[in-house]
Amino acid sequence: MIRAIDIHTHTSDQAHKEFLGEYGRFYEKYFGRPQRIISVDEQADMYRGLGMMFVLLALDAETNTGNPRISNEQVAEAAKRHGDVLIPFGSVDPWKGKYAVREVERCVNELGMKGMKFQQILQGFFPNDQRFYPLWEKCQELQVPLLFHMGTTGIGAGAPGGMGIKLKYAQPIPYLDDVAADFPELRIIGAHPAWPWQEEMLAVCRHKANVYLDLSGWSPKYFSPSLIQYANTLLQDKILFGSDFPAISPERWLQDFEQAPFRDEVRPKILLENAKRLLKLDV
Ligand SMILES: [Zn+2]
Repeated sequence: MIRAIDIHTHTSDQAHKEFLGEYGRFYEKYFGRPQRIISVDEQADMYRGLGMMFVLLALDAETNTGNPRISNEQVAEAAKRHGDVLIPFGSVDPWKGKYAVREVERCVNELGMKGMKFQQILQGFFPNDQRFYPLWEKCQELQVPLLFHMGTTGIGAGAPGGMGIKLKYAQPIPYLDDVAADFPELRIIGAHPAWPWQEEMLAVCRHKANVYLDLSGWSPKYFSPSLIQYANTLLQDKILFGSDFPAISPERWLQDFEQAPFRDEVRPKILLENAKRLLKLDV
């Protein structure tokens, strides 16, 4: 019996540590503790024990960061071992051009990915740049949902110059809103409450039927009244539970969610129903 779907988790293994590279030092400071190294198998066991499914994200930002990627193969192979709980999302580096478009196709048709993740801050690109439109065309054709990072990031936070990381790529309007407008069949999830552009993200979510929002990366303890207000009313069918594990554990997120003033009839939508519909899952 599945009681929730965590729409946003990362690996927390050695490959993830290498992916973060130098950024890791400040990432650990930002989240107040060292990165716990656990294997993807242990991660799957943890979610199984919690009665939850989870989306596991690959990540390729090689061109912009020079760091190794979290490969699509790793995520797809883990999904084969843990198909009962693990939902694989692929990643391509948009700067890899035609290769990236072909890789999206391979992710969906050969590796069985259920969606694609983009991290514009690390990948260093604006989604509404026309050079990347062939990517969105391909994703729309393949009918896979896309998850975009929104708002600030823990990566580089607190370092001089944020270690060169630029936040501008993760602003909802116009960068994500344009893509949602130009690809109305594309299902788009804006990840995180998108601070400091939360109200923009809520507006896009309200305006575009094809845009959703995940609540990952923040404890519900810190959600603003407007976020909770929209989740309880107008956006109750479009808001999704996500933890951003390992940054926040699903247990901690859920504990704080219990305490936050969400309406009882809306809670199961956020935890399970909305994700099930969006991912077209039958669980
Ligand atoms: Zn994340």
